[in-house]
Amino acid sequence: MKIIVLPGDGIGPETMAATVEVLQTVNKRFDLALELDHDIAGHESLKKHGSTVTDILLEKVRNADGLMLGPMSTYDFKDESKGEINPSKFFRKSLDLYANIRPAKTYSGLPNKVGAFDLIVVRENTEGFYADRNIESGASEMLITPDVVISLRRITRLCCERIARTAFELAQTRRKKVTIVHKANVLKIADGMFIDICKAVGNDYPGIQIDDFIVDAMMAHVVRAPDKFDVIVTTNMFGDILSDLTSELSGSLGLAGSLNAGTQYAMGQAAHGSAPDIAGRDIANPMSLILSAGMLLGWCGQQKKSSALLQASKAIERASERIVKDGQVTRDVGGNLGTQAVGKAIAKCLQTI
Ligand code: ATP
Repeated sequence: MKIIVLPGDGIGPETMAATVEVLQTVNKRFDLALELDHDIAGHESLKKHGSTVTDILLEKVRNADGLMLGPMSTYDFKDESKGEINPSKFFRKSLDLYANIRPAKTYSGLPNKVGAFDLIVVRENTEGFYADRNIESGASEMLITPDVVISLRRITRLCCERIARTAFELAQTRRKKVTIVHKANVLKIADGMFIDICKAVGNDYPGIQIDDFIVDAMMAHVVRAPDKFDVIVTTNMFGDILSDLTSELSGSLGLAGSLNAGTQYAMGQAAHGSAPDIAGRDIANPMSLILSAGMLLGWCGQQKKSSALLQASKAIERASERIVKDGQVTRDVGGNLGTQAVGKAIAKCLQTI
């Protein structure tokens, strides 16, 4: 069982080091026969190979069982012709990782900003308003004159249908509720289709309750009563923004685990970015990346029908909950531990779980 590990930029190397320690611990504890294959992407790869990602790396990922991608300096990567490819989009598009699954829940031991909740944002990952991935070649953002820009948003029946199905499948394993988030009052055709398809897919899941909210109102609803939500399904950009809000409401952006999944491949990746403002100081919260690694093991466990992988995935979640309860956390959530110390605390806890 091989996982490719790409530490990335900014806080990537330090949070990935803590994550690797956790992966090595579950490997021993649950006898996973895990092989971690370390490679590079982002600035380091740009320097060494002239490109932030390479086709050789993609091939390697295709031949592995999973990918752990650290945060990347996407904002720095502007010109694909100079090798400045957004690694996130590269893997999401090349491997058709259409479902971005972003859980957010409150932890006992942390102050509740808006009351206890446990929800999952299921975000479409391959189209929408994302100019670097929603057309076959080139970018869908155009400078028409020096003063006029047009950005296109693509919504397709196929992508709506498969993301809706992911959401309903997940809801079946949880509290059996799906909330559709959209802007169909303005984007009447595109988001009208998104709602219709979500509801049609919902017909295949008669036990699941469905409601829907306009995205702007949703911001108020999720702050006011986040416990009303179970699984939230939405298009790419709305999901990106909403999931940052839900993770911050749960305590910190540094707690937001995230999995990018398709039918054949999956990639664990923190929901946050490279956080250059705190990079290299051993203060970043590694839990987001560690929880993402746990989600990747869970996905692999389902694919391979491996109870050891499923147990390892659950154990990472439980160990993370336990260290938060004990106050062994970084300063973004009120603690005083460093990045590596949190990784070690989770690893230690895993020995006894
Ligand atoms: P990028 O350009 O890569 O998206 P960014 O700083 O614009 O980076 P984020 O990395 O998502 O965006 O960071 C937003 C804020 O959240 C920053 O203040 C950052 O320090 C904080 N933050 C993000 N991730 C973490 C983390 N793991 N631990 C603690 N704080 C974090």
